[in-house]
Amino acid sequence: MELSNILFPNLNKTVDDVLAQYPARTLKEGAKVTRLGPSPTGFIHLGNLYGAFVDERLAHQSGGTFYLRIEDTDDKRYVEGAVETIINSLRFFGINFDEGAMLDGEKGIYGPYTQSLRGEIYQAFARKLIEEGKAYPCFLTEEEIQEIRDEQEALKLNPGIYGKWAKHRDLSLEEVKAKIDAGMPYVIRLKSDGNLDLPDDEIRRIEVMDGIRGKLSMPENNLDVVILKSTGIPTYHFAHVIDDHLMGTTHVVRGEEWLSTLPIHIELFEKLGWEAPIYCHTGQLMKIDEEGNKRKLSKRKDPELSLDYYRNLGYHPEAVREYLLTILNSNYEEWRIENPDADINEFEFTTEKMSNSGTLFDLQKLNDVSKDVLLKIDAAKLCTFLKGWSEEFKPELSYIFEDMDYLEKVLDIGRHDNKPRKDHVYASQMVENISYFFDESFKREDEYPAEALADKSTILEKYLETYNHGDSQEEWFGKIRDIADSLGYALRPKDFKKNPDDYKGHVGHVSEVIRIALMGRKQSPDVWEIQQILGEERTIGRIKAEI
Ligand code: GLU
Repeated sequence: MELSNILFPNLNKTVDDVLAQYPARTLKEGAKVTRLGPSPTGFIHLGNLYGAFVDERLAHQSGGTFYLRIEDTDDKRYVEGAVETIINSLRFFGINFDEGAMLDGEKGIYGPYTQSLRGEIYQAFARKLIEEGKAYPCFLTEEEIQEIRDEQEALKLNPGIYGKWAKHRDLSLEEVKAKIDAGMPYVIRLKSDGNLDLPDDEIRRIEVMDGIRGKLSMPENNLDVVILKSTGIPTYHFAHVIDDHLMGTTHVVRGEEWLSTLPIHIELFEKLGWEAPIYCHTGQLMKIDEEGNKRKLSKRKDPELSLDYYRNLGYHPEAVREYLLTILNSNYEEWRIENPDADINEFEFTTEKMSNSGTLFDLQKLNDVSKDVLLKIDAAKLCTFLKGWSEEFKPELSYIFEDMDYLEKVLDIGRHDNKPRKDHVYASQMVENISYFFDESFKREDEYPAEALADKSTILEKYLETYNHGDSQEEWFGKIRDIADSLGYALRPKDFKKNPDDYKGHVGHVSEVIRIALMGRKQSPDVWEIQQILGEERTIGRIKAEI
């Protein structure tokens, strides 16, 4: 008691006060409570989205709660506006929080949801552990710790403060007082019960059921880890244990980089007398790099790790969600084939079907998925999506959105055919695909075919003479054949191929001249259909301009 008073002279809050503020949640059978606990560093990446997606599905599929907790105990890394970035980026991809930190403050009764505002709560529990002899103040300086590390290295021992290296474990009250009076800074360390210095078969192992990996068996923790830093701020280990207990988290989804410290967390739960949540350790996101090697996605090397990458290019959030599910659950693609039109949320997501050995992220596959997803989104919605993207990232493209009916027709072209066209992948690429529909961005990108170059103007003049905007597709093509025939072009490509000296070229070359005059490109959907959308005036204007 006296020790804890010396260490926390001004702390009024007790553990009982705190516990009284956090009633157990009333949840319906099977409902899961998950949370995202990002550090507000301003960089939100694909891994965050991947994890958040798991959290979101687990909570919302079970009628539970998904909340946002800001883990800002590492204040060096705090970036202004980072919380907004987290919330807005995830919202864009369809991930919404029910509780916790929000754009306009906080929601929920389990707050504060920002760790830097919870100092006294952590301190109250640290004091309790001290009173129970489960934690202690440690005055080791950085230099002393470095010496210990060097010595351990020389002896080929595991690094850390444990066993005989935990030199301040058993300081007397007088010794502690004297050090504090001398102004020595200190941290609070867990007094671990673990002992790994035993023969292997006598080392106690902890057994944990991981939501993704199944049964894990690991040697228990033996480290006297820091739980409160000298500033009174908790470490991640301590903070998340307290928060996840008080806030009623049932499932902790986090990256596999935390697996090695799981025994610490389990010991902390034990020491505090609480049941641990179900940990779900996700595998790393991997890619096959240019050299064909499989490696972790890296912030430095891979722009696609950043969520901004997808937003800037204009990936549709539904495409990203669809793709993420294909890599999250091994049975998703099969389900999608059986349920092509079902809402994605009807799929029953399970952590057991997640990979635990790293997940391969493949941009090409994302693009293929995106093509299929965009095909299912009706053109009017696609217009709205494109407009929203352009307003945020490419305001100079505003001319595209002056006539939304026109744009809708443009985007819908060829999408309802038996073999629908699938060339739309993401917004910035879509506006390229359709640029020729707008005079502002129309330009000649391909050359006229050599076979018909000399006749270019004649072909276009003849085309104009007989042009009738009301012609059916057959009538229209009949006229092109007439032009081709009258100018000495074969009506069938194979005739030209067989007797190249008898013809200047074939009917395809003649249509290509028209196509290039109208669209500026060799490749495009059906010319007749495009003319119907361009309208009579624009069609005639473009032909005239090329004569
Ligand atoms: N703040 C931790 C991180 O950013 C969260 C880990 C967890 O979800 O428990 O890695």
